[in-house]
Amino acid sequence: MRLDHVGIAVKDWPQAVDKWREFTGTEPKFEDVSEQGFRVAVFDLGNARIELLGETADNSPISGFIKKRGGGIHHIALEVENIENKMKEAEEMGLELIDKTPQTGLENKKIAFFHPRSFDYTLVELCGPKED
Ligand code: ZN
Repeated sequence: MRLDHVGIAVKDWPQAVDKWREFTGTEPKFEDVSEQGFRVAVFDLGNARIELLGETADNSPISGFIKKRGGGIHHIALEVENIENKMKEAEEMGLELIDKTPQTGLENKKIAFFHPRSFDYTLVELCGPKED
């Protein structure tokens, strides 16, 4: 298992993107998920990535988070070889998954979220390896 990314909800999108770009010296990859009301900028740091999450609609899960907390770490994502096996293992351990079957995330990776109460109120995402 490895840390794939940390997702950070940001209030001021252009300012945050510029700051992370300058600070990390890396060019982000942008993804528009406007059908779910948000957009993503991914900064690849080599060993892990930073995923900035900005709202594009005020009924998105990101805007709720920003309204409540003003932004900040939204979730962490752990990559596993076989997501289905890991999900089954997790359920046997009594951990609660929000997604009962994997959904398709960025880069066509299979992803699944745990209920935050499974990990001390930290939203944890599981992701499979990149699919071609
Ligand atoms: Zn994520």
